[in-house]
Amino acid sequence: MSGCRVLITAGPTREPIDPVRFISNRSSGKMGYAVAQASLEFGAEVCLVSGPVALSPPESARLVTVESAREMLAAVLEEIPTTDIFVATAAVADYVPAVVADQKLKKTEDEMTLTLTKAPDILKTVGHMENRPFCVGFAAETQNVAEYARGKLIKKNCDLIAANQVGDGRAFDSDTNALQVFWRDGDYVIPRQDKIQVARSLMGLVAEHYQQAQTDTL
Ligand code: C5P
Repeated sequence: MSGCRVLITAGPTREPIDPVRFISNRSSGKMGYAVAQASLEFGAEVCLVSGPVALSPPESARLVTVESAREMLAAVLEEIPTTDIFVATAAVADYVPAVVADQKLKKTEDEMTLTLTKAPDILKTVGHMENRPFCVGFAAETQNVAEYARGKLIKKNCDLIAANQVGDGRAFDSDTNALQVFWRDGDYVIPRQDKIQVARSLMGLVAEHYQQAQTDTL
């Protein structure tokens, strides 16, 4: 992957409710950071757009830190023109508070209702761009993994989707992971092992499919 520019999103996003509160999720960022490390080992140039995590980035990766889905989208769009391969590992919020309060909300009522609106879908946005990079998505599912993953491949217009089963402590914040990687007419299982090993296998597969896609467009 020498000379190849890989853009990776990683970690959770943080969606503010007011100046002191936010909505987020359990993503540790470990898978995305492992993908960044593996891409560097393959000789790629790496830009890592990361939500808030407690990890140090690989030394030679360029790190762009963001908090919200909207910030992550803006950072990604800035990088896309110089990206060959986009790997979306981030656990981006699906819904975000419709209004962010300027001041800390007070607990005056027994109940409160928070209105949420859909967050921008970063992978889907990039997947449908003209001259898009080679796109790799992730799918964290608790059931019907293959069916949902294949659906995402189409909906988000990706080249590959890596599905992991979550729940019961699997995948989130774990040091190990297992993936089933899908493409239009095939799939491949990467067995449970350390996330860095999983990332190396995944990037091997990505490199293969990326090269094939390059050959096909010649
Ligand atoms: O739709 P779902 O969240 O299951 O899709 C997961 C894939 O889409 C992941 O690759 C994730 O990084 C990406 N995604 C995104 N922006 C969103 C939601 C998901 O880029 N708002």
